[in-house]
Amino acid sequence: MCMRFEIVTIFPDFFASILEHGILRRALAENLIEVGVHDLRAFTHDRHRTVDDRPFGGGEGMVLKPGPLAEALAALGIEPRTERQILSGALAPEGSRTRVILLSAQGRPFTQAVARELAALERVVLICGRYEGVDERINQLYCDMELSIGDYVLSGGELAAAVVVDAVMRLVPGVLGNEASGEFESFGVADAEIAAGAEGVPRSQHGSGGLLDYPHYTRPAEFASLRAPEVLLNGDHQQIRRWRREQQLRKTLANRPDLLERANLSGEDRKLLEAIRQEYR
Ligand code: SAM
Repeated sequence: MCMRFEIVTIFPDFFASILEHGILRRALAENLIEVGVHDLRAFTHDRHRTVDDRPFGGGEGMVLKPGPLAEALAALGIEPRTERQILSGALAPEGSRTRVILLSAQGRPFTQAVARELAALERVVLICGRYEGVDERINQLYCDMELSIGDYVLSGGELAAAVVVDAVMRLVPGVLGNEASGEFESFGVADAEIAAGAEGVPRSQHGSGGLLDYPHYTRPAEFASLRAPEVLLNGDHQQIRRWRREQQLRKTLANRPDLLERANLSGEDRKLLEAIRQEYR
């Protein structure tokens, strides 16, 4: 089944080049995903195609008006949340196969776990804010969640929407060559949770279990007087697997120690981690 993204934006052209490259382009060509980009200005009714207005209460900047956004959502068949729940007979938005998402610096963090959650849906609607943001009533009435791609402020939701589409579509079955390969990257699930398609995956790989990825090397074996690690050149998949796991632990400890608290670690991982910590003491 094909997963569909709908993006509501005042800059539809922004997405042209993103959709024309790499895995995203291939996923579209193979009808594994669909992306609809909708110009918010098409839902205005004045000569100037006005989408924004001054904020109530004063202050800097402009705010995206609720009217055009509500019309854009109606054109996509999106009812206010309460009506959607009644129509689908679901008590919670979790019962529906569509999510309406407002991109916002005030949102909950977008993580690989959220990407996984979204990849299981049929349709994801992404509302891109601009200026000071979107009239809050759109969030209240229509949005199932607010998502932030990081603790910084962008000038618009378009980059954030592109990030969400890219990270989610990689997890749609069939998009990556090997069904399981998304799980062998940073933030992936543990080996035990990788159900599908483990055949054909070199046994030198590990489900990351919530850790960062290990470092990668390619030819030439020697570059700028630095040799690629010998273990990767010798073809022993068990040794490679052990070395990669240790590197995952080292990288995560160095760059994202917070991830270790939630990571899925085996007894062997814990011993290795303790040994690495000893080195740094
Ligand atoms: N006044 C807002 C605030 O302080 O939170 C910032 C508005 S920002 C200049 C304009 C738009 O960019 C937002 O409405 C949102 O759609 C998008 N945006 C900015 N930072 C974002 C982030 N970290 N994640 C997702 N979207 C973001």
